[in-house]
Amino acid sequence: MRALIIENSRLYRQFLDTTLREQGFENDICSSLAQAREFIDAEQYQLLCVNQHLEDGKGRELIHYCNQHAENSKTPILYFTTDDNRLEVDDSLRIDQIIVKRNLQQVSDQVVRFIEKISDPLRSEIKILFIEDSESIARVILSHLGNAGYKVSRYSNGECAWKEFINVKSFGSDTEAYSLVITDINLEGKMTGLDVVRKIRGIDDARGFIPIIAITGENNDELRLSLYESGVNDYLNKPVLIPELLIRANNLITNKRLLDKVHDQRRELYALATTDKLTGCHNRHSLMEFSDKFISQGSRHNYPVSLMVIDLDHFKSVNDTHGHATGDIVLAEIGNLLNKSFREGDLVARFGGEEFVVLMSHCDSEYAQTKAESLRVEIEALQPNGLTITSSIGLTTKGREEIADFEMLFSFADAGVYQAKENGRNQVVFKPLKA
Ligand code: GH3
Ligand code: MG
Ligand code: MG
Ligand code: MG
Repeated sequence: MRALIIENSRLYRQFLDTTLREQGFENDICSSLAQAREFIDAEQYQLLCVNQHLEDGKGRELIHYCNQHAENSKTPILYFTTDDNRLEVDDSLRIDQIIVKRNLQQVSDQVVRFIEKISDPLRSEIKILFIEDSESIARVILSHLGNAGYKVSRYSNGECAWKEFINVKSFGSDTEAYSLVITDINLEGKMTGLDVVRKIRGIDDARGFIPIIAITGENNDELRLSLYESGVNDYLNKPVLIPELLIRANNLITNKRLLDKVHDQRRELYALATTDKLTGCHNRHSLMEFSDKFISQGSRHNYPVSLMVIDLDHFKSVNDTHGHATGDIVLAEIGNLLNKSFREGDLVARFGGEEFVVLMSHCDSEYAQTKAESLRVEIEALQPNGLTITSSIGLTTKGREEIADFEMLFSFADAGVYQAKENGRNQVVFKPLKA
Protein backbone atom coordinates (compact mmCIF):
# COMPACT_ATOMS: atom_id res chain seq x y z
CA MET A 1 0.00 0.00 0.00
CA ARG A 2 1.16 3.48 -0.84
CA ALA A 3 0.49 6.82 0.83
CA LEU A 4 1.26 10.40 -0.09
CA ILE A 5 2.12 12.71 2.81
CA ILE A 6 1.82 16.42 2.01
CA GLU A 7 2.89 18.33 5.06
CA ASN A 8 4.87 21.51 5.69
CA SER A 9 6.04 20.63 9.20
CA ARG A 10 9.19 18.56 9.25
CA LEU A 11 8.28 16.97 12.58
CA TYR A 12 4.93 15.83 11.23
CA ARG A 13 6.45 14.60 7.97
CA GLN A 14 8.73 12.29 9.90
CA PHE A 15 6.10 11.32 12.41
CA LEU A 16 3.49 10.41 9.79
CA ASP A 17 6.08 8.57 7.75
CA THR A 18 6.95 6.36 10.75
CA THR A 19 3.33 5.82 11.76
CA LEU A 20 2.28 4.81 8.25
CA ARG A 21 5.29 2.59 7.72
CA GLU A 22 4.36 0.66 10.84
CA GLN A 23 0.99 0.07 9.22
CA GLY A 24 2.64 -1.37 6.13
CA PHE A 25 2.59 1.70 3.89
CA GLU A 26 5.29 2.90 1.58
CA ASN A 27 5.23 6.67 1.46
CA ASP A 28 5.96 9.53 -0.86
CA ILE A 29 6.57 12.70 1.09
CA CYS A 30 6.51 16.34 0.10
CA SER A 31 5.83 19.78 1.49
CA SER A 32 4.50 21.77 -1.44
CA LEU A 33 1.49 21.75 -3.74
CA ALA A 34 3.72 21.70 -6.80
CA GLN A 35 5.53 18.53 -5.73
CA ALA A 36 2.31 16.91 -4.59
CA ARG A 37 0.70 17.45 -7.99
CA GLU A 38 3.60 15.66 -9.65
CA PHE A 39 3.19 12.68 -7.31
CA ILE A 40 -0.58 12.61 -7.89
CA ASP A 41 -0.01 12.55 -11.64
CA ALA A 42 2.42 9.68 -11.44
CA GLU A 43 1.07 7.28 -8.81
CA GLN A 44 -2.07 5.70 -7.51
CA TYR A 45 -2.33 6.03 -3.72
CA GLN A 46 -4.30 4.14 -1.10
CA LEU A 47 -4.12 7.07 1.33
CA LEU A 48 -3.49 10.80 1.18
CA CYS A 49 -2.45 12.82 4.25
CA VAL A 50 -2.97 16.49 3.44
CA ASN A 51 -2.12 19.38 5.72
CA GLN A 52 -4.26 22.51 5.77
CA HIS A 53 -1.32 24.84 5.04
CA LEU A 54 1.39 24.06 2.55
CA GLU A 55 4.52 25.96 1.52
CA ASP A 56 2.95 27.29 -1.65
CA GLY A 57 -0.78 27.12 -1.02
CA LYS A 58 -3.62 25.37 0.71
CA GLY A 59 -4.27 21.66 1.17
CA ARG A 60 -7.80 22.13 -0.15
CA GLU A 61 -6.41 23.05 -3.57
CA LEU A 62 -4.69 19.71 -3.73
CA ILE A 63 -7.84 17.84 -2.74
CA HIS A 64 -9.69 19.50 -5.62
CA TYR A 65 -6.80 18.55 -7.88
CA CYS A 66 -7.03 14.88 -6.77
CA ASN A 67 -10.73 14.73 -7.55
CA GLN A 68 -9.97 15.37 -11.19
CA HIS A 69 -7.51 12.49 -11.41
CA ALA A 70 -9.32 9.23 -11.99
CA GLU A 71 -6.59 7.19 -10.32
CA ASN A 72 -6.76 9.14 -7.06
CA SER A 73 -10.27 10.50 -7.18
CA LYS A 74 -11.46 7.91 -4.66
CA THR A 75 -8.35 7.67 -2.48
CA PRO A 76 -9.21 8.18 1.23
CA ILE A 77 -8.05 11.56 2.51
CA LEU A 78 -6.90 12.53 6.00
CA TYR A 79 -6.88 16.28 6.48
CA PHE A 80 -4.59 17.72 9.14
CA THR A 81 -5.04 21.06 10.81
CA THR A 82 -3.74 22.81 13.92
CA ASP A 83 -6.94 24.65 14.70
CA ASP A 84 -10.41 23.23 14.27
CA ASN A 85 -12.05 26.65 14.67
CA ARG A 86 -10.62 28.01 11.49
CA LEU A 87 -11.24 25.02 9.24
CA GLU A 88 -11.84 26.06 5.71
CA VAL A 89 -13.82 22.95 5.04
CA ASP A 90 -17.09 22.91 3.16
CA ASP A 91 -19.20 20.15 1.69
CA SER A 92 -17.51 20.39 -1.66
CA LEU A 93 -14.23 19.25 -0.11
CA ARG A 94 -13.85 15.47 -0.18
CA ILE A 95 -12.31 14.61 3.18
CA ASP A 96 -12.70 11.33 4.99
CA GLN A 97 -11.48 12.51 8.36
CA ILE A 98 -10.16 15.71 9.89
CA ILE A 99 -7.36 15.31 12.38
CA VAL A 100 -6.54 18.17 14.70
CA LYS A 101 -2.86 18.23 15.61
CA ARG A 102 -2.98 18.48 19.41
CA ASN A 103 -0.62 15.80 20.59
CA LEU A 104 1.34 13.21 18.71
CA GLN A 105 -0.03 10.18 20.55
CA GLN A 106 -3.61 11.21 19.83
CA VAL A 107 -2.84 11.86 16.20
CA SER A 108 -1.10 8.52 15.87
CA ASP A 109 -4.06 6.68 17.40
CA GLN A 110 -6.48 8.42 15.07
CA VAL A 111 -4.37 7.67 12.01
CA VAL A 112 -3.99 4.01 12.95
CA ARG A 113 -7.71 3.62 13.60
CA PHE A 114 -8.49 5.24 10.29
CA ILE A 115 -6.12 2.92 8.44
CA GLU A 116 -7.62 -0.11 10.11
CA LYS A 117 -10.98 1.08 8.90
CA ILE A 118 -9.97 1.67 5.29
CA SER A 119 -7.84 -1.45 4.97
CA ASP A 120 -10.62 -3.60 6.36
CA PRO A 121 -12.09 -4.63 3.01
CA LEU A 122 -8.64 -5.89 2.01
CA ARG A 123 -7.68 -7.36 5.35
CA SER A 124 -10.96 -9.04 6.14
CA GLU A 125 -10.23 -11.45 3.27
CA ILE A 126 -6.91 -12.48 4.74
CA LYS A 127 -6.84 -15.65 6.84
CA ILE A 128 -4.13 -16.32 9.40
CA LEU A 129 -3.56 -19.61 11.20
CA PHE A 130 -2.25 -18.82 14.67
CA ILE A 131 -0.87 -21.50 17.01
CA GLU A 132 -0.13 -20.54 20.62
CA ASP A 133 -0.78 -22.51 23.78
CA SER A 134 -0.46 -19.68 26.28
CA GLU A 135 -3.90 -18.15 26.79
CA SER A 136 -2.58 -14.77 27.92
CA ILE A 137 -0.18 -14.32 24.98
CA ALA A 138 -2.77 -15.64 22.53
CA ARG A 139 -5.34 -13.14 23.78
CA VAL A 140 -3.06 -10.14 23.23
CA ILE A 141 -1.91 -11.21 19.77
CA LEU A 142 -5.41 -12.23 18.70
CA SER A 143 -6.79 -8.88 19.69
CA HIS A 144 -4.14 -6.98 17.71
CA LEU A 145 -4.44 -9.16 14.62
CA GLY A 146 -8.21 -8.81 14.89
CA ASN A 147 -7.95 -5.02 15.19
CA ALA A 148 -5.73 -4.98 12.15
CA GLY A 149 -8.65 -6.60 10.31
CA TYR A 150 -7.29 -10.14 9.79
CA LYS A 151 -9.43 -13.25 10.04
CA VAL A 152 -7.57 -15.39 12.56
CA SER A 153 -8.10 -19.04 13.53
CA ARG A 154 -6.24 -19.86 16.72
CA TYR A 155 -5.20 -23.31 17.93
CA SER A 156 -3.42 -24.21 21.12
CA ASN A 157 -1.85 -27.42 19.85
CA GLY A 158 -0.04 -28.45 16.70
CA GLU A 159 -2.17 -31.51 15.96
CA CYS A 160 -5.43 -29.56 15.63
CA ALA A 161 -3.77 -26.72 13.76
CA TRP A 162 -2.21 -29.12 11.27
CA LYS A 163 -5.51 -30.91 10.78
CA GLU A 164 -7.23 -27.62 10.03
CA PHE A 165 -4.48 -26.48 7.67
CA ILE A 166 -4.37 -29.66 5.61
CA ASN A 167 -8.17 -29.82 5.38
CA VAL A 168 -8.41 -26.42 3.70
CA LYS A 169 -7.68 -27.45 0.14
CA SER A 170 -7.57 -23.91 -1.28
CA PHE A 171 -4.39 -22.05 -2.04
CA GLY A 172 -3.02 -19.10 -3.99
CA SER A 173 -5.35 -16.14 -4.32
CA ASP A 174 -8.40 -18.21 -3.35
CA THR A 175 -10.20 -16.40 -0.53
CA GLU A 176 -10.62 -19.60 1.49
CA ALA A 177 -6.85 -20.10 1.57
CA TYR A 178 -4.65 -19.19 4.53
CA SER A 179 -2.17 -16.40 3.82
CA LEU A 180 0.08 -16.71 6.86
CA VAL A 181 0.93 -19.08 9.70
CA ILE A 182 2.10 -17.68 13.02
CA THR A 183 3.27 -20.40 15.37
CA ASP A 184 4.65 -20.68 18.84
CA ILE A 185 7.40 -23.31 19.08
CA ASN A 186 6.77 -24.97 22.45
CA LEU A 187 3.21 -26.20 22.41
CA GLU A 188 0.96 -28.40 24.46
CA GLY A 189 0.44 -31.80 22.83
CA LYS A 190 2.97 -33.93 20.97
CA MET A 191 3.73 -31.72 18.01
CA THR A 192 5.99 -28.70 18.43
CA GLY A 193 5.73 -25.62 16.27
CA LEU A 194 8.78 -26.91 14.42
CA ASP A 195 6.94 -30.16 13.61
CA VAL A 196 4.06 -28.16 12.18
CA VAL A 197 6.44 -26.10 10.03
CA ARG A 198 8.12 -29.24 8.67
CA LYS A 199 4.77 -30.83 7.87
CA ILE A 200 3.60 -27.72 6.04
CA ARG A 201 6.81 -27.49 4.03
CA GLY A 202 6.33 -31.14 3.07
CA ILE A 203 3.03 -30.47 1.27
CA ASP A 204 3.56 -30.73 -2.45
CA ASP A 205 1.07 -28.12 -3.61
CA ALA A 206 1.19 -24.32 -3.24
CA ARG A 207 0.08 -24.53 0.40
CA GLY A 208 3.59 -25.77 1.17
CA PHE A 209 4.93 -22.31 0.36
CA ILE A 210 2.78 -20.32 2.78
CA PRO A 211 4.76 -17.72 4.78
CA ILE A 212 5.44 -18.73 8.39
CA ILE A 213 6.42 -16.62 11.39
CA ALA A 214 7.74 -18.46 14.45
CA ILE A 215 7.47 -17.06 17.96
CA THR A 216 9.53 -18.45 20.79
CA GLY A 217 10.49 -17.78 24.36
CA GLU A 218 13.94 -19.27 23.86
CA ASN A 219 16.63 -17.47 22.00
CA ASN A 220 19.73 -19.36 20.98
CA ASP A 221 21.66 -19.68 17.74
CA GLU A 222 20.95 -23.37 17.38
CA LEU A 223 17.19 -22.95 17.66
CA ARG A 224 17.21 -20.00 15.29
CA LEU A 225 19.15 -21.98 12.72
CA SER A 226 16.89 -24.98 12.95
CA LEU A 227 13.86 -22.72 12.59
CA TYR A 228 15.18 -21.19 9.39
CA GLU A 229 16.36 -24.58 8.19
CA SER A 230 12.90 -26.04 8.59
CA GLY A 231 11.48 -23.26 6.42
CA VAL A 232 10.37 -20.53 8.79
CA ASN A 233 10.44 -17.15 7.01
CA ASP A 234 10.61 -14.93 10.03
CA TYR A 235 11.22 -15.25 13.71
CA LEU A 236 10.20 -13.23 16.79
CA ASN A 237 11.19 -13.47 20.44
CA LYS A 238 8.84 -13.31 23.36
CA PRO A 239 7.71 -10.94 24.68
CA VAL A 240 6.44 -10.13 21.21
CA LEU A 241 6.68 -6.53 20.14
CA ILE A 242 3.23 -6.17 18.60
CA PRO A 243 4.03 -3.47 15.99
CA GLU A 244 6.94 -5.63 14.82
CA LEU A 245 4.70 -8.67 14.49
CA LEU A 246 2.18 -6.63 12.50
CA ILE A 247 4.82 -5.24 10.15
CA ARG A 248 6.41 -8.64 9.57
CA ALA A 249 3.01 -10.22 9.01
CA ASN A 250 2.05 -7.48 6.58
CA ASN A 251 5.35 -7.75 4.67
CA LEU A 252 5.05 -11.49 4.24
CA ILE A 253 1.41 -11.28 3.21
CA THR A 254 2.18 -8.52 0.70
CA ASN A 255 4.91 -10.64 -0.87
CA LYS A 256 2.65 -13.64 -1.00
CA ARG A 257 -0.06 -11.64 -2.72
CA LEU A 258 2.37 -10.42 -5.34
CA LEU A 259 3.53 -13.98 -5.98
CA ASP A 260 -0.04 -15.24 -6.14
CA LYS A 261 -0.79 -12.54 -8.68
CA VAL A 262 2.19 -13.57 -10.81
CA HIS A 263 1.07 -17.21 -10.64
CA ASP A 264 -2.48 -16.27 -11.62
CA GLN A 265 -1.23 -14.26 -14.56
CA ARG A 266 1.03 -17.08 -15.64
CA ARG A 267 -1.86 -19.53 -15.51
CA GLU A 268 -4.03 -17.19 -17.57
CA LEU A 269 -1.30 -16.67 -20.14
CA TYR A 270 -0.69 -20.39 -20.34
CA ALA A 271 -4.40 -21.07 -20.85
CA LEU A 272 -4.53 -18.41 -23.55
CA ALA A 273 -1.51 -19.84 -25.32
CA THR A 274 -2.72 -23.44 -25.31
CA THR A 275 -6.45 -22.99 -25.94
CA ASP A 276 -8.26 -22.51 -29.22
CA LYS A 277 -10.39 -19.42 -28.70
CA LEU A 278 -13.40 -20.47 -30.75
CA THR A 279 -13.90 -23.99 -29.41
CA GLY A 280 -12.20 -24.00 -26.02
CA CYS A 281 -10.27 -27.12 -27.08
CA HIS A 282 -6.46 -27.34 -27.00
CA ASN A 283 -4.97 -25.67 -30.05
CA ARG A 284 -2.74 -27.42 -32.55
CA HIS A 285 0.41 -26.01 -31.00
CA SER A 286 -0.54 -27.45 -27.63
CA LEU A 287 -1.42 -30.84 -29.16
CA MET A 288 1.96 -31.02 -30.89
CA GLU A 289 3.74 -30.11 -27.69
CA PHE A 290 2.10 -32.76 -25.52
CA SER A 291 1.17 -35.55 -27.93
CA ASP A 292 4.42 -37.54 -27.99
CA LYS A 293 4.74 -37.44 -24.22
CA PHE A 294 1.09 -38.43 -23.91
CA ILE A 295 1.66 -41.45 -26.14
CA SER A 296 5.01 -42.55 -24.70
CA GLN A 297 3.59 -42.50 -21.20
CA GLY A 298 1.28 -45.29 -22.29
CA SER A 299 4.31 -47.42 -23.14
CA ARG A 300 6.12 -46.55 -19.94
CA HIS A 301 3.16 -47.33 -17.71
CA ASN A 302 1.87 -50.15 -19.86
CA TYR A 303 -1.55 -48.93 -20.97
CA PRO A 304 -3.13 -48.55 -24.43
CA VAL A 305 -3.60 -45.14 -26.06
CA SER A 306 -6.07 -44.34 -28.83
CA LEU A 307 -6.18 -41.45 -31.26
CA MET A 308 -9.31 -40.17 -32.97
CA VAL A 309 -9.56 -37.74 -35.88
CA ILE A 310 -12.98 -36.12 -36.33
CA ASP A 311 -13.70 -34.25 -39.56
CA LEU A 312 -17.07 -32.55 -40.01
CA ASP A 313 -18.92 -33.49 -43.20
CA HIS A 314 -19.58 -30.99 -45.97
CA PHE A 315 -18.69 -28.16 -43.68
CA LYS A 316 -17.92 -25.87 -46.55
CA SER A 317 -21.58 -25.99 -47.53
CA VAL A 318 -22.58 -24.92 -43.98
CA ASN A 319 -20.54 -21.77 -44.52
CA ASP A 320 -21.76 -21.33 -48.06
CA THR A 321 -25.43 -21.73 -47.16
CA HIS A 322 -25.64 -20.12 -43.71
CA GLY A 323 -22.62 -17.85 -43.56
CA HIS A 324 -19.25 -18.03 -41.86
CA ALA A 325 -20.62 -16.71 -38.55
CA THR A 326 -23.06 -19.61 -38.35
CA GLY A 327 -20.18 -21.95 -39.21
CA ASP A 328 -18.31 -20.53 -36.22
CA ILE A 329 -21.25 -21.13 -33.89
CA VAL A 330 -21.44 -24.73 -35.09
CA LEU A 331 -17.71 -25.23 -34.48
CA ALA A 332 -17.97 -23.71 -31.00
CA GLU A 333 -20.84 -26.01 -30.05
CA ILE A 334 -19.09 -29.09 -31.42
CA GLY A 335 -15.97 -28.09 -29.47
CA ASN A 336 -18.06 -27.75 -26.34
CA LEU A 337 -19.58 -31.19 -26.90
CA LEU A 338 -16.12 -32.74 -27.36
CA ASN A 339 -14.76 -31.07 -24.23
CA LYS A 340 -17.65 -32.47 -22.22
CA SER A 341 -17.56 -35.95 -23.74
CA PHE A 342 -14.05 -36.98 -22.85
CA ARG A 343 -12.32 -37.80 -19.59
CA GLU A 344 -10.16 -35.29 -17.81
CA GLY A 345 -6.95 -37.08 -18.72
CA ASP A 346 -7.78 -37.11 -22.44
CA LEU A 347 -6.54 -34.39 -24.76
CA VAL A 348 -9.10 -32.78 -27.05
CA ALA A 349 -7.65 -30.46 -29.70
CA ARG A 350 -8.79 -28.49 -32.70
CA PHE A 351 -6.29 -29.61 -35.31
CA GLY A 352 -7.41 -27.24 -38.05
CA GLY A 353 -10.57 -25.66 -39.48
CA GLU A 354 -13.29 -28.28 -38.86
CA GLU A 355 -11.01 -31.10 -37.85
CA PHE A 356 -10.46 -32.28 -34.28
CA VAL A 357 -8.01 -34.73 -32.74
CA VAL A 358 -8.56 -36.56 -29.46
CA LEU A 359 -5.89 -38.52 -27.61
CA MET A 360 -7.32 -41.04 -25.14
CA SER A 361 -5.25 -42.63 -22.44
CA HIS A 362 -6.06 -46.08 -20.95
CA CYS A 363 -8.19 -46.65 -24.02
CA ASP A 364 -8.03 -49.93 -25.97
CA SER A 365 -9.38 -50.42 -29.50
CA GLU A 366 -12.68 -51.81 -28.32
CA TYR A 367 -13.44 -48.91 -25.99
CA ALA A 368 -12.19 -46.42 -28.59
CA GLN A 369 -14.63 -47.77 -31.20
CA THR A 370 -17.57 -47.68 -28.81
CA LYS A 371 -16.65 -44.16 -27.78
CA ALA A 372 -16.24 -42.96 -31.38
CA GLU A 373 -19.56 -44.45 -32.43
CA SER A 374 -21.42 -42.82 -29.57
CA LEU A 375 -19.71 -39.52 -30.33
CA ARG A 376 -20.77 -39.78 -33.98
CA VAL A 377 -24.39 -40.23 -32.81
CA GLU A 378 -24.11 -37.32 -30.35
CA ILE A 379 -22.76 -34.98 -33.02
CA GLU A 380 -25.57 -35.92 -35.38
CA ALA A 381 -28.14 -35.29 -32.63
CA LEU A 382 -26.61 -32.01 -31.43
CA GLN A 383 -28.35 -29.71 -33.94
CA PRO A 384 -26.10 -26.68 -33.37
CA ASN A 385 -27.94 -23.56 -34.51
CA GLY A 386 -30.73 -25.86 -35.66
CA LEU A 387 -28.53 -27.60 -38.24
CA THR A 388 -27.89 -31.30 -38.62
CA ILE A 389 -24.13 -31.83 -38.68
CA THR A 390 -22.46 -35.18 -39.26
CA SER A 391 -18.88 -36.27 -38.94
CA SER A 392 -16.43 -38.79 -40.32
CA ILE A 393 -14.25 -40.31 -37.64
CA GLY A 394 -10.98 -42.16 -38.10
CA LEU A 395 -9.50 -44.12 -35.26
CA THR A 396 -6.46 -46.11 -34.25
CA THR A 397 -5.01 -47.64 -31.10
CA LYS A 398 -1.48 -48.20 -29.85
CA GLY A 399 -1.58 -51.33 -27.70
CA ARG A 400 0.46 -51.67 -24.49
CA GLU A 401 3.49 -53.14 -26.20
CA GLU A 402 3.31 -51.41 -29.54
CA ILE A 403 5.61 -48.55 -30.42
CA ALA A 404 4.35 -45.50 -32.29
CA ASP A 405 4.56 -41.75 -32.16
CA PHE A 406 1.94 -39.10 -32.82
CA GLU A 407 2.74 -38.82 -36.49
CA MET A 408 2.21 -42.50 -37.06
CA LEU A 409 -1.02 -42.74 -35.06
CA PHE A 410 -2.33 -39.65 -36.79
CA SER A 411 -1.61 -41.02 -40.27
CA PHE A 412 -3.56 -44.21 -39.52
CA ALA A 413 -6.53 -42.35 -38.01
CA ASP A 414 -6.48 -39.87 -40.87
CA ALA A 415 -6.58 -42.72 -43.35
CA GLY A 416 -9.68 -43.85 -41.42
CA VAL A 417 -11.26 -40.44 -42.01
CA TYR A 418 -10.45 -40.66 -45.71
CA GLN A 419 -12.07 -44.07 -45.96
CA ALA A 420 -15.14 -42.90 -44.01
CA LYS A 421 -15.57 -40.05 -46.51
CA GLU A 422 -15.20 -42.49 -49.41
CA ASN A 423 -17.79 -44.80 -47.92
CA GLY A 424 -20.38 -42.01 -47.74
CA ARG A 425 -19.46 -40.03 -44.54
CA ASN A 426 -21.21 -39.98 -41.12
CA GLN A 427 -19.36 -43.09 -39.97
CA VAL A 428 -16.44 -44.40 -37.93
CA VAL A 429 -13.54 -46.31 -39.46
CA PHE A 430 -11.02 -48.05 -37.23
CA LYS A 431 -7.54 -48.55 -38.67
CA PRO A 432 -5.42 -51.05 -36.73
CA LEU A 433 -1.71 -50.18 -36.59
CA LYS A 434 -0.58 -53.60 -37.71
CA ALA A 435 -2.56 -53.62 -40.97
P1 GH3 B 1 -15.78 -33.05 -46.31
O1 GH3 B 1 -17.05 -33.70 -45.92
O2 GH3 B 1 -15.13 -33.69 -47.45
O3 GH3 B 1 -14.84 -32.91 -45.15
O4 GH3 B 1 -16.18 -31.60 -46.79
P2 GH3 B 1 -15.80 -30.22 -46.12
O5 GH3 B 1 -16.57 -29.16 -46.81
O6 GH3 B 1 -16.01 -30.31 -44.65
O7 GH3 B 1 -14.26 -30.18 -46.36
P3 GH3 B 1 -13.22 -29.08 -46.67
O8 GH3 B 1 -11.96 -29.46 -45.98
O9 GH3 B 1 -13.14 -28.90 -48.17
O10 GH3 B 1 -13.75 -27.73 -46.08
C1 GH3 B 1 -13.63 -27.42 -44.74
C2 GH3 B 1 -14.27 -26.09 -44.57
O11 GH3 B 1 -14.27 -25.66 -43.22
C3 GH3 B 1 -13.54 -25.01 -45.34
C4 GH3 B 1 -13.72 -23.78 -44.51
O12 GH3 B 1 -14.58 -22.87 -45.14
C5 GH3 B 1 -14.36 -24.24 -43.25
N1 GH3 B 1 -13.65 -23.71 -42.07
C6 GH3 B 1 -12.41 -23.94 -41.69
N2 GH3 B 1 -12.12 -23.22 -40.56
C7 GH3 B 1 -13.25 -22.54 -40.25
C8 GH3 B 1 -13.59 -21.63 -39.22
O13 GH3 B 1 -12.80 -21.30 -38.32
N3 GH3 B 1 -14.84 -21.11 -39.22
C9 GH3 B 1 -15.75 -21.45 -40.18
N4 GH3 B 1 -16.95 -20.92 -40.12
N5 GH3 B 1 -15.43 -22.29 -41.16
C10 GH3 B 1 -14.23 -22.83 -41.22
MG1 MG C 1 4.12 -22.24 24.13
MG1 MG D 1 -14.79 -31.68 -43.54
MG1 MG E 1 -11.34 -31.06 -43.23
